[in-house]
Amino acid sequence: MAKPDGVMRRITILGSTGSIGESTLSLLEYAAAKGETAFEIEALTANRNVAKLAEQARKFRPKYVAIADAGLKQDLVDATGDLDVETGAGEEAVIDAAARNADWVMAAIVGAAGLQPTLTAAKRGADIALANKECLVCAGDVVTAAIREAGGALLPVDSEHNAIFQVFDFDRPHRISKLILTASGGPFRTWSEDDMAAATPAQAVAHPNWSMGAKISVDSATMMNKGLELIEAAHIFPIDHKHIDILVHPQSVIHSMVEYVDGSVLAQLGSPDMRTPIASTLAWPDRTPSPSAKLDLVETGKLTFEAPDIERFPAIRLAREAVAGGGAMPGMLNAANEVGVAAFLSDRIKFLDIAAITEQVLEVASRHKTNAVLTTLEEAIAADAEARRLAEEAVVARAAA
Ligand code: NAD
Ligand code: MG
Repeated sequence: MAKPDGVMRRITILGSTGSIGESTLSLLEYAAAKGETAFEIEALTANRNVAKLAEQARKFRPKYVAIADAGLKQDLVDATGDLDVETGAGEEAVIDAAARNADWVMAAIVGAAGLQPTLTAAKRGADIALANKECLVCAGDVVTAAIREAGGALLPVDSEHNAIFQVFDFDRPHRISKLILTASGGPFRTWSEDDMAAATPAQAVAHPNWSMGAKISVDSATMMNKGLELIEAAHIFPIDHKHIDILVHPQSVIHSMVEYVDGSVLAQLGSPDMRTPIASTLAWPDRTPSPSAKLDLVETGKLTFEAPDIERFPAIRLAREAVAGGGAMPGMLNAANEVGVAAFLSDRIKFLDIAAITEQVLEVASRHKTNAVLTTLEEAIAADAEARRLAEEAVVARAAA
């Protein structure tokens, strides 16, 4: 994407083989076909999907590709042997990709694994298009400080935060009374607790409005996604978490809202397609065309709203407790949830166990005395590891029960 001054942009995509990564590449292709763009790809990274990464390298000609799984080093070399591209393998190689000199970086790795690469790109002053919400949840203070100090822009990709970013008056934050995060309610919005108790992974990942990776889809089903987003919002925007509401809006047309002190409520709307928020971060502060369907409100007909059901979706309560506890608590919530989701997706535990395990870990976490603000990455990493250990124990206990 050309910057406003017409200079070519160098782009890196961390997590290029995922849902957000692929949407980003498809947008770049679309913009190029429209003659809108001047970009080159510096680096692409993936976890294990060598075939897709090699295919992307063939098409987009990055200078560097990295695969996180060190055991796949030779596979990547073989798959890209005919291309003029440097390769790397292992966690360090993904961090190397982030360190390379791109001026716009899409942070689209899923989970806490995205933290160190994102932080690396932030520290050298790149503009960060941030999809990876988990890295703000587990080390938001550290990541936002790094971006601020190095002078890059933090461009939220998550549709809710992207919506708020577009209507938030950063010059007068004291005139904002609250943020309203909208939530689709996920696939189990109308399910009874008994039905949810028997939900399968296939049912949990079948989101009614959005097509996304497996982890975030399960998070939408538990509504932990909205809990993580609440914590994410409190880091991105200068507003206290107590002034962030969650509103269920099943059509996913209003992507979130900002209420001002005079009673005005500003919203951003669009069809539920991540290519719109991604396009807005790609071109920011300009705009660029996106192939996403234009919103047709006559066809939509009705927009409805309801309060979230905290009884059936305890994840929202847990996220509020974690953000109020501060310090390492949000990171421990996130790590426990990641372990729970992975265990559910591999059929080791039941759907409702995800939140139950997360609650168990948070109870232990709340007995630790931690600093209210995390100042170092090491603290975040230690809390993440501790919560994973506790959650894994809880998974084993439940799987055996
Ligand atoms: P996905 O599972 O489709 O893709 C994840 C990407 O990360 C893949 O490229 C994968 O190879 C890579 N990856 C996974 N584990 C890794 C590891 N350990 N080390 C290095 N790379 C690894 O996920 P997604 O749906 O694209 O979501 C990506 C992030 O964006 C998540 O944090 C998610 O919460 C957030 N997000 C996604 C959407 C969406 O619509 N998909 C919307 C809002 C926010
Ligand atoms: Mg979202």
